[in-house]
Amino acid sequence: MRGMLRPGSGRSQSLPAGCYSDGVHAIGIDVGGTEIKAGLVDGAGRVLKSARGATNRDDLGALVDAIADLAAAVSPPGADPGAVGVGVPGPVRTGSGRVETAPNMPALRQAAIGPFLSERTGLDVQVRNDADMYAWGEFAAGAGREAARLVCLTVGTGLGSGFILDGRLYEGAGGYGAEAGHIVVDPDGAACGCGGRGCLETVVSATGIVRRTREAIRDGLSTTLRDAGNALTARRIQEAAESGDALATRVFDEAGRCLGVACASLINLLGPDVIVVGGGVSAAGALLLEPAAAEARARAYPPLFAACRIVPARLGQDAGVVGAALLAGRRARESSLSSPL
Ligand SMILES: [Zn+2]
Repeated sequence: MRGMLRPGSGRSQSLPAGCYSDGVHAIGIDVGGTEIKAGLVDGAGRVLKSARGATNRDDLGALVDAIADLAAAVSPPGADPGAVGVGVPGPVRTGSGRVETAPNMPALRQAAIGPFLSERTGLDVQVRNDADMYAWGEFAAGAGREAARLVCLTVGTGLGSGFILDGRLYEGAGGYGAEAGHIVVDPDGAACGCGGRGCLETVVSATGIVRRTREAIRDGLSTTLRDAGNALTARRIQEAAESGDALATRVFDEAGRCLGVACASLINLLGPDVIVVGGGVSAAGALLLEPAAAEARARAYPPLFAACRIVPARLGQDAGVVGAALLAGRRARESSLSSPL
């Protein structure tokens, strides 16, 4: 056990459940497809120091070196950096720190990145799926601070998810959590990267929004995006919708409604206090969330819908870093007290 995370330095009364204590800290690292973000985070979720570096998607050794260098860059001078939490884009087996698959990052496939990082840094490193870390950040210090049951959906290139159930991160079999992005919303829909068909992320993701826009353009529908070609991105489609482009508006409305259908199922299944929607595509705000909330209201079991809020994430790009640090710090403290989280 590291000195900065002292047994008995219990969570103060004013801190939400996911935090652990003022005055102690841990390092959080969020490994994205192009960029690695690192931060020194205190026990209340405040980022004290941050650094960024490029991701090497193909070379595990270079990736480990980059993460270790960023951890060193945000470590407090002359003091123990405490625990380190690392979020990665792939399913991580509990306890092993091993990533099973990583479709967008070959370096991580079948890689025991947790043990590599512990050996490389000499620190207590905990590795988890990035959406789980993001969810813990929003639960502990973001939009879900008052919630005991939180579903977090991160809408980016794909659609990730993390679940906090009765104050605990849901582990799932093997520690793989649960993948809301692969809930089937259209049995005859588009092929998904998971090998299935019609998954939520085939519609509600940057990739899905671009694909559906291209399909509509091919069908001859009128739009200001007709000549965008390879420059067509979800952000560009969002901007077109905000400028009144009917096709772009329709694509976001369909994505929002599809998100709402999935939210209704999640509400009926789990009875969450809050569903937090984050990730780059959530910058579309009302374009996505208004049709989602309307669809969820129309479809969910009314008493459960009434008990649930659907809200945008609050921590923005820091959520993954904050969640990774808070989860690692809290777990390190819990293990020092011989009490599982
Ligand atoms: Zn899928």
